[in-house]
Amino acid sequence: MDTIEDTMQRLREAFSSGKTRPAEFRAAQLRSLGRFLRDNKPQLQDALARDLRKSAFESEVSEIAISQAEVDLALRNLQAWMKDKSVRKNLATQLDSAFIRREPFGLVLIIVPWNYPLNLTLVPLVGAIAAGNCVVLKPSETSKGMEKILAEVLPRYLDPSCFAVVLGGPQETGQLLECRFDYIFFTGSPRVGKIVMAAAAKHLTPVTLELGGKNPCYVDDDCDPQTVANRVAWFRYFNTGQTCVAPDYVLCSPEMQERLLPALQSAITRFYGDDPQTSPNLGRIINQKHFKRLQGLLGCGRVAIGGQSDERDCYIAPTVLVDVQETEPVMQEEIFGPILPLVTVRSLDEAIDFINRREKPLALYAFSNSSQVVRQMLARTSSGGFCGNDGFMHMTLPSLPFGGVGASGMGQYHGKFSFDTFSHQRACLLRSPRMEKINDFRYPPYTPRNLRV
Ligand code: NAD
Repeated sequence: MDTIEDTMQRLREAFSSGKTRPAEFRAAQLRSLGRFLRDNKPQLQDALARDLRKSAFESEVSEIAISQAEVDLALRNLQAWMKDKSVRKNLATQLDSAFIRREPFGLVLIIVPWNYPLNLTLVPLVGAIAAGNCVVLKPSETSKGMEKILAEVLPRYLDPSCFAVVLGGPQETGQLLECRFDYIFFTGSPRVGKIVMAAAAKHLTPVTLELGGKNPCYVDDDCDPQTVANRVAWFRYFNTGQTCVAPDYVLCSPEMQERLLPALQSAITRFYGDDPQTSPNLGRIINQKHFKRLQGLLGCGRVAIGGQSDERDCYIAPTVLVDVQETEPVMQEEIFGPILPLVTVRSLDEAIDFINRREKPLALYAFSNSSQVVRQMLARTSSGGFCGNDGFMHMTLPSLPFGGVGASGMGQYHGKFSFDTFSHQRACLLRSPRMEKINDFRYPPYTPRNLRV
């Protein structure tokens, strides 16, 4: 087996050879990535079911189809994205050629978490390949089924001199981080994000950090509670709540809370039946460690809906908590599971204050029939992304950048934004060697005449 040093050297040599630069090479690798998704669909679905008990529907829409869509988009636009972009010129450069060239950074490291282990590997990989880089992929050691496919099957589809998969947990990732990369793209927790950024700083390596946090969801009094409950329950319990953009807590008035509770119960029963543990549509917590952490959070506030758990099955019922205190753990840490606290506020202003007292979230949601209320929430807060009257649908548009701000991360990707993230924008001016006379004014000895030109 290759050591990390061998792998790094092989990829560095391939990059230096210029192999990844032609559009034909990039397109061939992207087409191959598409074949990987199509040829191995049943195995990918099976791995997602084993790791997270993800349903076929959720696997398709949130992992396989979304990755395929990114491949197709990059293939359709590759030539246009790669084209030099001409820029405006000034008087002194009228006869020259001024443009921005997108060039690959070189050797890129992509570090992946376990909750969407295919999507969060392939979507950045598409951008890195399209931009002409060589890539070391580090899948999550926690989602074992997907890790195995990414290690054993994916490399058969990609040029081995340019792309490698390195396996391992914190220790092996730490070893990788000691090496010099030209770009690091990390998706994971803010805690590990800081480790990655500190390691990157040693080599002045630029980073994208796609992190997590607590995403607020404000519900105004004028909303239809059942519509809100359907939408909120769907995106809170999708992938069993293990989604970085899921609403972490709801902010609403005490009156709206009373109307939302039966509506949430009705949505949960409609989606997962009377006994959600037997539902094929609800996944499981990734492992015992996360199960125990979430079980601890069930003790916060008062359970209004759900609250059941089964350790042997890593099962936690879709749960709604009320009467939680701001100081309790469920309001201090990212929940990342099927638990939704409702926190009461008296007004939109109080909700905005509550949000602004905390770290900037990855996503912020506001429900109201009044576009003014939604727009006020948008104008007076900050977050990576924002969606009015729904949850995480904003991230299904590759025309919108996806990424955090402040503690929820830095940098962005999806669609063309991925290509830009993995490209250095080189400022180029190609001047003529002729017409030297017009440069006279800039040369010393300086006299008042220099300035008059
Ligand atoms: P994590 O930070 O524990 O792990 C992410 C990756 O970092 C894994 O590949 C892991 O092997 C590696 N790693 C873990 N500890 C390390 C260490 N000490 N040194 C070096 N590398 C280390 O995150 P996770 O538990 O896999 O995923 C959950 C987190 O990811 C949540 O916070 C969630 O919000 C976030 N997330 C963010 C996004 C996004 O797009 N912004 C998407 C998914 C998940």
